[in-house]
Amino acid sequence: MYILVVNAGSSSLKYQLFDMEGEKLLAKGNADRIGIDGVLEHQVIGKEKTATPTPFPTHADAIKKVLETLVDKEAGCIESIDMIGAVGHRVVHGGPWLTKPTLVTEQSKADLRKCLTIAPLHTKGHLEGIQGCEEVMPTVPQVLVIDTAFHSTMPAKAYTYPIAYEVAEKYNIRRYGFHGTSHRYVSAIANEYLGKEDSKIVTCHIGNGSSISAVRGGKCMDTSMGFTPLDGIIMGSRCGAIDPAIVPYIMEAENIPANEMGNWMNKKCGLLGVSGVSSDMRNLRKAQAEGNERANLASDILTYEIKKFIGSYAAAMNGLDCLVFTAGIGENDARVRSEVCADMEFLGVKMDEDKNLNYRDLPVPADVSAADSKVKILVIATNEELVIARDTAEVVEGLNK
Ligand code: AMP
Repeated sequence: MYILVVNAGSSSLKYQLFDMEGEKLLAKGNADRIGIDGVLEHQVIGKEKTATPTPFPTHADAIKKVLETLVDKEAGCIESIDMIGAVGHRVVHGGPWLTKPTLVTEQSKADLRKCLTIAPLHTKGHLEGIQGCEEVMPTVPQVLVIDTAFHSTMPAKAYTYPIAYEVAEKYNIRRYGFHGTSHRYVSAIANEYLGKEDSKIVTCHIGNGSSISAVRGGKCMDTSMGFTPLDGIIMGSRCGAIDPAIVPYIMEAENIPANEMGNWMNKKCGLLGVSGVSSDMRNLRKAQAEGNERANLASDILTYEIKKFIGSYAAAMNGLDCLVFTAGIGENDARVRSEVCADMEFLGVKMDEDKNLNYRDLPVPADVSAADSKVKILVIATNEELVIARDTAEVVEGLNK
């Protein structure tokens, strides 16, 4: 079966086409600037990437163009649209209503619409992407694969915020957690590597957005992101968890309205805000090499906060078998991994620095722990799209049984 994985945002629609026989990625791209002017970035795997100005007023127009391109004799990779057996949608927030991969039906769309109050921008994009697919490929089953779903196993003491209970209930305020598809994928690989029933794993998804999860026996017990992806550790331009009293204090002092304050916490803080240089780790490293003290501070905060989460999750799980690093920084920045794992022998964490630097030469999953480390340290490339394609195939195959 061929599966199209769609990640629809408010003005973009990223896609990947998989042949599930052999789980082969055939093509990928991004219909960007929907409703503005429109650019279609497209690549058949193994060929050159192209970027073509293409007007798409709506998400349906974008999907139409993507499908045309996929079957195009020159630019495409399949003969007919009918070869696509299903579409899997990445959904950022399922709220308390959507907690597992779910077929798109009137009921599941109604559940997704409820999420508009909690995550308006992402959910609006998802709904438009789904509607676009329905218009263009009305008979093809669609599946929602939800980022918050993996975290739905957290116990109440981990997901309940200590605020007035009735208010939390009224507005569905609780820790949901994000990057669930990634945490699930890498923790499953780590579990298999450990070959242990009741494994205690901390997964560190460190990228532009970052989150850390405690995974015990394959189930999520706790995670650093919360009601929104703003909670947790310092990120590219997000502040992560801060003293909540800082927020009304700045709003009053600077006369900033709520929506602007949200934007400030999401876009102007984090590595960017502290360093004054960039939200991008590679630029931060360059600035550090030039002796920029604030870039050093931003990098130090990042590793210190990751370390604190690892310690607290090890305490929460009564032990630690494995640490996993994944995503843009977790996979590519050996220095972050090294600094996080330094001085953690008390916890049984000991890194092989040479392996850490040359982890790409190691068999997959790359084990960069020292021979005498009690805790395994793994570097695993995440692949959220593949998990979405697998989940979609499973739901659709279930329909035919
Ligand atoms: P992601 O959100 O997972 O795509 O991760 C993006 C982050 O990964 C950005 O901060 C990038 O600077 C960082 N990143 C990507 N490649 C590297 C690299 N080779 N070294 C350091 N950071 C990297």
